[in-house]
Amino acid sequence: MRNVSKLFSNGTLALKDMSLDVRRGEFLSLLGPSGCGKSTALRIIAGLGAASTGVIDWPSSRINAKGLPEGDVGFVFQEPTLMPWASVFDNVYLPLRLNGMSKSGARPRIMEALASVGLSDFEKSYPRELSGGMKMRVSIARALVTKPRLLLMDEPFAALDEITRQKLNDDVLRLWRETGITVIFVTHSVFESAFLSNRIVVMRARPGQVCADLAIETTGERDANY
Ligand code: ADP
Ligand code: ADP
Repeated sequence: MRNVSKLFSNGTLALKDMSLDVRRGEFLSLLGPSGCGKSTALRIIAGLGAASTGVIDWPSSRINAKGLPEGDVGFVFQEPTLMPWASVFDNVYLPLRLNGMSKSGARPRIMEALASVGLSDFEKSYPRELSGGMKMRVSIARALVTKPRLLLMDEPFAALDEITRQKLNDDVLRLWRETGITVIFVTHSVFESAFLSNRIVVMRARPGQVCADLAIETTGERDANY
C-alpha cells in the first residue's frame, strides 16, 4: 500500500496516508482497536473497495485489467458467508466455478482443500448441519481452493468460543507453514497476533494510520509464543 487514504461518502476518514510493504511468506497481523480501519485496509488490498487516494502496488506481472492479481488472493470474512442452499462441496466449488472450471475437473482441488481443514467427510453436508467452527473451516477451504499466494483474513474467529478459536489458529499456522502462503490476519487480539504472526502492524484510529510495525522472532513452536 502506498499512501492509501479512504474517505467514505459520509465524511468518515477511515484511512489516512497508510503505507505498508508486505513481503512474500510473511504472516502479518494487522492489530488495532475497533474502527481503526483494519477491514477497510484489507478490503482495499483485496480489491473489494477502492482507495480514495494512493495505490496498491502489486509486484508481479500477473495483474488483470482492474489492477488485481487474478486468482491470487483468498479472502476469509468475519462471518463464514456460506450459501445455505448449497452443500459444503458446492460452497468450496464456487470460486472455481466463477473461474469457469467444471465440477468434475474441480473435484480433486475441492477435496484437497477440504482435507487441509479436516473436513474430508463433510462434502455432502449443508451449512446448517455444521458447527460455527466447521463453517469457518469451509470458508477457509473456499479461500484456499484457488491456491492463492495471499490469504486475507478479517477477524475470522471473533465469533467462536476460545477452544475452537485456538484449534483454528493452530490450523491456520499449519497451513501457512505447509504452503508458504503470505497471510494478512486482521485481529484486535494482542494474544492472537503474538501467537500467530511473525510481524505485527498496529493501527490507531481517527484517522486510521499505522503506529507501530514489529518483527516477531519465532521458533515455530506454539509454546514459544505462549
Ligand atoms: P475496523 O475493521 O478496524 O474495525 P473499519 O475499517 O471497519 O474498522 O472502519 C473504519 C472506520 O470507517 C470506522 O469509523 C467505520 O465506522 C467507518 N466505515 C467503515 N465502512 C464504512 C462505510 N461503508 N461507510 C462509512 N463509514 C464506514
Ligand atoms: P512466568 O512467571 O512467566 O510463568 P516464571 O518466572 O515463574 O515464569 O518461571 C520461569 C521458569 O523458571 C519456569 O520454567 C519455572 O518453572 C522456573 N522457575 C521459577 N521459579 C523457580 C524456582 N524457584 N526454582 C526453579 N525453577 C523455577
